[in-house]
Amino acid sequence: MRYISTRGAAPALEFDDVLLAGLARDGGLYVPETWPSLTTEAIRALRGKSYADIAVAVMQPFLIGETGGKIGDGDFTAMVKDAYAAFRHQAVVPLKQIDQSLWLMELFHGPTLAFKDVALQLVGRLYDHVLKARKQRVTIIGATSGDTGSAALEACRDRDAIDIFILHPKGRVSEVQRRQMTTIDSANVFNIALEGTFDDCQDMVKAMFNDHAFRDRVNMSAVNSINWARVMAQIVYYVVGAVALGAPDRRIGFSVPSGNFGNVYAGYGARQMGLDIAPLIIGSNRNDILARFFNTAAMQITQVEPSLSPSMDIQVSSNLERLLFDLYGRDGQALAAAMGDFRKAGRMTAPRQSWKQVETLFAAAAFDDKATLAAMGDLYKRTGELIDPHSAIGIAAAEAKRADPEIPIIALATAHPAKFPEAVERATGRRPDLPDHLADLYDRSERMTVLPNNLERVKDFVLASRRNQ
Ligand SMILES: *Cc1c(COP(=O)(O)O)cnc(C)c1O
Repeated sequence: MRYISTRGAAPALEFDDVLLAGLARDGGLYVPETWPSLTTEAIRALRGKSYADIAVAVMQPFLIGETGGKIGDGDFTAMVKDAYAAFRHQAVVPLKQIDQSLWLMELFHGPTLAFKDVALQLVGRLYDHVLKARKQRVTIIGATSGDTGSAALEACRDRDAIDIFILHPKGRVSEVQRRQMTTIDSANVFNIALEGTFDDCQDMVKAMFNDHAFRDRVNMSAVNSINWARVMAQIVYYVVGAVALGAPDRRIGFSVPSGNFGNVYAGYGARQMGLDIAPLIIGSNRNDILARFFNTAAMQITQVEPSLSPSMDIQVSSNLERLLFDLYGRDGQALAAAMGDFRKAGRMTAPRQSWKQVETLFAAAAFDDKATLAAMGDLYKRTGELIDPHSAIGIAAAEAKRADPEIPIIALATAHPAKFPEAVERATGRRPDLPDHLADLYDRSERMTVLPNNLERVKDFVLASRRNQ
């Protein structure tokens, strides 16, 4: 299996290199040169299997190199089992039936209560494994406005080959979010509370990346949302959900609350592998660039507005480029030119010849905060279920866009309601409890270092703190 860049001008790489590279050198994203296929028999053979067993079967073909897999089968199986043993539900991603044809798949039983754990718990282990095999060490430095920081920290904690520093804007993340990061008791985890805004944190990380002497000295890296391995790990639960509801003998649809398009793209990947899933319904909040794109074929950048579903407050969905690559007939040069124009003009239109195919597979709808709260309240009245604002957008989109009652729809629940207690209480009158493993979150001691918004001070702190000297 080789991976090629969506911009067509970077070398094709094998899995291990794609894992460590993140972004391709030509600014593109890596995608498989050809998709491994899941035959009808192979899908049928997954029935009744555990999450970890299905995960190994679905992902293994993505790891195999030209000269045989570099990550051994036994090692890979052990990493998958270990990653998903950390989840608080035996089914890992349990399904709950909402009505005759609508299901909720809970992707939030990992350590930080959000779906990013599903991919990152595995990716952290893969990263550490490949680095150790190469006798390399890295320093991961990232910025967070709240949610991704804790998922990255939990994924990298206690890993020998990694030191991780996460910057958050001091006093500007919620108490739950801060405590999820600062109460991690691990020698390779460093929290920096920066005296500034989230943008200052991001600028600081960029400045460190652009300081080549510093970057090389600490072997700086990132675990960002465009990493191919995250997409790969997310394909698994589409297969698990579809098989549980009758695939390959029945078509299944999914509804996905979307931001960077990584989650939906994984569903598209499962379909490219041969799983009969359709429609793929995309739910947006008031930042509706994706919903507008899928309804009009035109993409236009607008201002980002804060919403009740902050993990979907984005301007440009980075993973959409992977789908666009296919819409441009996998012509990297044509896509590179289109993306260049888009950067300049802030607007682009999808190629006409492939739009029909998009319309038959995808549907999309956007919901503002009022509609989100209404969806949360309505589901609570009907079923007694408390859901978070992101998951509510998935449910609302499913209800708005499901067309054929014969096709079951699985709405992906991407965060635990206790991560967004204020919104849940506003919508339902009930305040959700934190799950048992976080029940003492407010009693645990915190570790963080407050630093001024000053590049030299932050660099000095990284150099003095890291273990990988
Ligand atoms: C990241 C995130 C999303 C958006 O997922 P994408 O892959 O970026 O589309 C939705 N809900 C929650 C809770 C998230 O953390």
